[in-house]
Amino acid sequence: MKSFQELKLPVALEKALLAMKFETPTPIQAQAIPVAMSNRDLIGCAQTGTGKTAAFSIPMIARLLRAQGRTALVLVPTRELAAQVMEVVRDLTVHLPDIRSVLLIGGASMQAQSSALRRSPRILVATPGRLVDHLRRGGVSLSKTEILVLDEADRMLDMGFAPQLNEILRFVPKARQTMLFSATMPPDIQKLANSILKDPIKVA
Ligand code: AMP
Repeated sequence: MKSFQELKLPVALEKALLAMKFETPTPIQAQAIPVAMSNRDLIGCAQTGTGKTAAFSIPMIARLLRAQGRTALVLVPTRELAAQVMEVVRDLTVHLPDIRSVLLIGGASMQAQSSALRRSPRILVATPGRLVDHLRRGGVSLSKTEILVLDEADRMLDMGFAPQLNEILRFVPKARQTMLFSATMPPDIQKLANSILKDPIKVA
């Protein structure tokens, strides 16, 4: 893929990319977006600064537009990264008022997040600990999750989030698309990938 036009994206996404001044796909976007648009699971070896956020967000939003009532869950290790991902998601959905998104991070009001959850957001960007808090209170349903993204998966494991990830995965449907991004691929990430991805395509 050499240009975003080749993807025949929904017009609202094309307009958003223009406004964001994303003209040429970065290498990870050029590799990952066509794979993700074909609904395949994906494992991406990519660091921050490579454009990986749009690499998973563009196909995720395109799929949500085709899948009425379904949702996407993006798990990230830190609040800062969650806020960065959310900014890209909001920029990409600026012309899509029906695709609401919510940020579920620690250190922010549970109540405000709970009321945002009641407005049926289609995209949840969350740190694992806070999402588990919402799950335990029954304030969030993940049963409509069509796309699961694990961003900076190596950092999530380094930060000790494996138990929370396992708890969250029990609530996410098995029939879904999963994308895992990690800067490094140590054995524990390979193991995680083997257990949650189906026949993934690897891009680096
Ligand atoms: P990320 O690796 O997702 O954190 O993105 C790193 C930076 O690259 C961000 O500031 C993005 O706005 C920018 N960026 C991502 N994709 C593109 C693109 N296709 N064209 C221009 N800038 C981009």
